[in-house]
Amino acid sequence: MDRRDALVESFMTEMGHCTKGETLFLQAVEEVARHVLTVEKNDPSFAAARVLARLVEPDRILSFRITWEDDDGKVQINRAWRVQASNAIGPYKGGLRFHPAVDLDTLKFLAFEQCFKNALTGLPLGGAKGGADFDPKGRSDAEIMRFCHALMRALAPHIGPDKDVPAGDINVGTKEIGWLFGAYRQLAGAYQGALTGKGLSYGGSAMRVEATGYGLIYFVERMLAEQGEDLAGKRIAISGKGNVASHAAEKAVQQRACVQTLSDTSGTLFAPDGMGQEAIAWVQGQKAAGRGIDTPPDGLGLQFKPGAVPWEIAPEIALPCATQNELDADMARQLVDGGTRLVAEGANMPLTAEAVEIVTGAGLAYAPGKAANAGGVAVSGLEMSQMSHRQFMSAEEVDRELCVIMRDLHARVAEEGREPGGIDYVRGANVAGYRRLAQAISAQGII
Ligand code: GLU
Repeated sequence: MDRRDALVESFMTEMGHCTKGETLFLQAVEEVARHVLTVEKNDPSFAAARVLARLVEPDRILSFRITWEDDDGKVQINRAWRVQASNAIGPYKGGLRFHPAVDLDTLKFLAFEQCFKNALTGLPLGGAKGGADFDPKGRSDAEIMRFCHALMRALAPHIGPDKDVPAGDINVGTKEIGWLFGAYRQLAGAYQGALTGKGLSYGGSAMRVEATGYGLIYFVERMLAEQGEDLAGKRIAISGKGNVASHAAEKAVQQRACVQTLSDTSGTLFAPDGMGQEAIAWVQGQKAAGRGIDTPPDGLGLQFKPGAVPWEIAPEIALPCATQNELDADMARQLVDGGTRLVAEGANMPLTAEAVEIVTGAGLAYAPGKAANAGGVAVSGLEMSQMSHRQFMSAEEVDRELCVIMRDLHARVAEEGREPGGIDYVRGANVAGYRRLAQAISAQGII
């Protein structure tokens, strides 16, 4: 065991009580600890402040029972949480996720990651995450609205434009944010920008819907530029069919890449000759209507393969954009053997720890989600400043700003992660995010 391993080992043991039984949270903490503990140890003020140990224990965890009535008049009960991880560099900021698999472990891992991601954007945004074990699948719009209103009745006292600003995440899009915001506005008795991802007619930002997917592609372009290449003609496999996946596909196609897959849990849509905008729009329409992607119409060049994952096509670039731990060791080996050269995470932690070892061990360029998918929260940051200034930026302005943010973010990560053989994006992202948080936390004393 080398020195760094011994450090990580003793830190993880010391932190055992914070991560007990929480496998996702543990996975996220260990990955960060591996890179930042030596940085902490070598800086007397960071070490004295015990920065990482403080970040592992969230500032606050709020837990709620959400009671609502379904269309049959039956009372339904769900569990919801808001994990406010750190507001050392700005108001708590992070999405809300609706999914039956949501639990405290998931939200603690996501809130922890969000602290680093938000620090990397260069904007004044703290880290948080929330959500509920509510499954919107098969629910009517009226039921989803009642659930959103009930959730906001619990959440409203704990959020606010300078306090905590939730946004969307899996299964929480513009529609749900609208219902959440309606309830918030009524409960607060004032119009306040306490949520981002709002509709354009009531204070939302242009490009917020596109931001995560477009930002991912801007980041990938910087990664390719490091190798003297660009996206033109590159064969890309994307997993997922939601907001991040479909907008990544859209931007990649605009940049003349060949996007060959999108997927969901039922299987994968293959486009051997690459998807056009019409095919992507069809997937977006299906998702918006709550329909599957297993019956593509003729003429779009799409084939659906039930149960398949996208990685079997041996893409040059792999963009996992579905959910955590979706890409395991076997799939990682499949990518390496197939000649994939670049993997960038559109989802949060979609590669298992073992899969990360395999792709980085094989020398692939690999960007973790906290760097590559930060474009979404960055445009949320722009939405917050537009609110404060009572301004509205055009789509062109936001897109230009997003491009600059992703370019600067890449430079920040590259600076910390540069090695003789290339860039270690995982170390770069963890150390660059950590430094900013550590400076703020150590500067503010023992509180
Ligand atoms: N849920 C997104 C993320 O994982 C966006 C969060 C936000 O805009 O606050 O970063």
